[in-house]
Amino acid sequence: MAVDRTHLGAAPGAPLPPVARSAAELAAIVGEPNAWAGGPASGTVKASDDAPSAPRRAVVMTMGALHEGHLDLVREAVRRAGQVIVTIFVNPLQFGPAEDFDAYPRDLARDLAALAPFRVAAVYAPTVSDVYPDGDAQVRIDPGPMGRVFEGAIRPGHFAGALTVIAKLLARTRPDIALFGRKDAQQLALVQRMVKDLDLGVEIVPVPIRREADGLAMSSRNRYLSEKQRAQALALPHAIEAGKAAAQAGAGSVEVEAQARAALGPMEPGMSLDYMSVVDPESFVPLDAAAAGRALLIGALRVGSTRLIDNAELTLA
Ligand code: AMP
Repeated sequence: MAVDRTHLGAAPGAPLPPVARSAAELAAIVGEPNAWAGGPASGTVKASDDAPSAPRRAVVMTMGALHEGHLDLVREAVRRAGQVIVTIFVNPLQFGPAEDFDAYPRDLARDLAALAPFRVAAVYAPTVSDVYPDGDAQVRIDPGPMGRVFEGAIRPGHFAGALTVIAKLLARTRPDIALFGRKDAQQLALVQRMVKDLDLGVEIVPVPIRREADGLAMSSRNRYLSEKQRAQALALPHAIEAGKAAAQAGAGSVEVEAQARAALGPMEPGMSLDYMSVVDPESFVPLDAAAAGRALLIGALRVGSTRLIDNAELTLA
């Protein structure tokens, strides 16, 4: 899958961003983490006019296999901050034993080419031994009750692993802002809660979900889908849309969920629904029929061995 750069106005051969394979290399490129308060670090330029004027460092954390959804985070980072660091790290700690850690797509050369059009000060693509020099981290972030429901129930240990590496990457990059996609809504809510509960002093900036033309949320894992599975996968965004339309028409949480489930249609062989639920966007506690105000409709569908997640923000009347 080629990243479409035509709309970016990028010269085909734009220079690749510098790559750091270790924390020491990163410091050599962008300055020591805690030097930021003293003034602009190298690679800093003034961000766009409507962005805050103070020089700010932004970090975008990814596992690579970059697509336009990731690039939306980078675009927003460039708009808001003078210095942008993109991290690329497939974190073994957040993969379960039966998950796709070894098979997860890795192509640093292609990712660097995708980032070339953007003003990225450094790509931090560390090795596993740079991030975990003493083997797997023994001390890990406990995601609490929100980490044990939905994605956390299906992927035990996933959020502890994800939050642990996010905390480490925040410590290593010391950004003023960190951008996360709404596609991974539960991760976003947990990161916001971690930053608040642990006083991490970084602003978390959510970025909207980027979708394919037919509505499927972009994901590095979509490439695992066969043509037939790709068509089956569309049941998920269709269901989320149906739930959203029901909420707009005044339905409560129970009816929204029922409409979304109905729109999924019958599960064909190889498909199964992990969950479809209306939750509080901050705590991921399911909302009862009387709930009003901000809500999130979340869904996860299995198609073959690929799991797809999706969600939409709702306002319940
Ligand atoms: P990943 O590489 O899957 O760990 O994702 C890295 C970041 O990109 C996370 O903050 C994701 O939520 C975000 N992201 C991934 N896919 C999308 C998408 N389709 N739209 C918006 N953000 C996304």
